[in-house]
Amino acid sequence: MGLYRSEGIILRSRVFGEADKIITIFTKEKGKIEAVARGARRPRSRLVGATQQFTYLKALVFEGKGLDQLSQAEIVRSFAVLRDDLIKMAYASWWSELLDVFLPLEEVNSDVFLFYLAGLLVLEKVQEPALVSRAFELRFLKYLGYEPVLDSCARCGRDSFVSAGFSSEEGGVICQRCYQDKPVKLIPLSGSNLQLLKELYQADLRIVHRWDLDLASEIEIGRLLFAFIEYRADKPFKSLSFLQSLLCWE
Ligand SMILES: [Zn+2]
Repeated sequence: MGLYRSEGIILRSRVFGEADKIITIFTKEKGKIEAVARGARRPRSRLVGATQQFTYLKALVFEGKGLDQLSQAEIVRSFAVLRDDLIKMAYASWWSELLDVFLPLEEVNSDVFLFYLAGLLVLEKVQEPALVSRAFELRFLKYLGYEPVLDSCARCGRDSFVSAGFSSEEGGVICQRCYQDKPVKLIPLSGSNLQLLKELYQADLRIVHRWDLDLASEIEIGRLLFAFIEYRADKPFKSLSFLQSLLCWE
């Protein structure tokens, strides 16, 4: 009970009651929290701007018996570009939903917070976010301990092998021998795109958008990671169907 200060980024904002919002904030100090922003949908409310999705804010939160309540908010960075540009909004929504789905409430994770903030700052600037997003997805999976096995066969562990493809169920690439022994559902992954995925783990988010990427590779590694993430989450992501509808991958 009482008041606490925290800084964070709004992952999600949804309507509540007559004029309120419930916001999900990923904070540096307390991890993911939910709070009611009373009156935040009234045009003159001081909370209108600060409670929009992707806003980076400093918040004063009242911890009550029920839901916490946002009592004051100061915008650190509005990230307006991420709401105005449709493609950027689609990517930012996808990342935000990723964090919202996988991170539990009130588990402090300042590394992920700083990584997410750095990612949004990059997304604000780049024109071609595809590789930035792939690097973001891989690194986030690694934070969660769900990183796909790419250096060896995910089933038998051999590190010198011919890949048959990628299996979400097995959690990585599968060698030809294992596949012939017991087939599983495979997602296609060419040798060059396997190499690209490995390099993306180490990639600097700020410069990865300059790497060459043809559309066929973008589609192959994108589809693979989306399928793997939805498999791990055991549910479809709303933001992902929106993003895919914009990407014209057909
Ligand atoms: Zn194997």
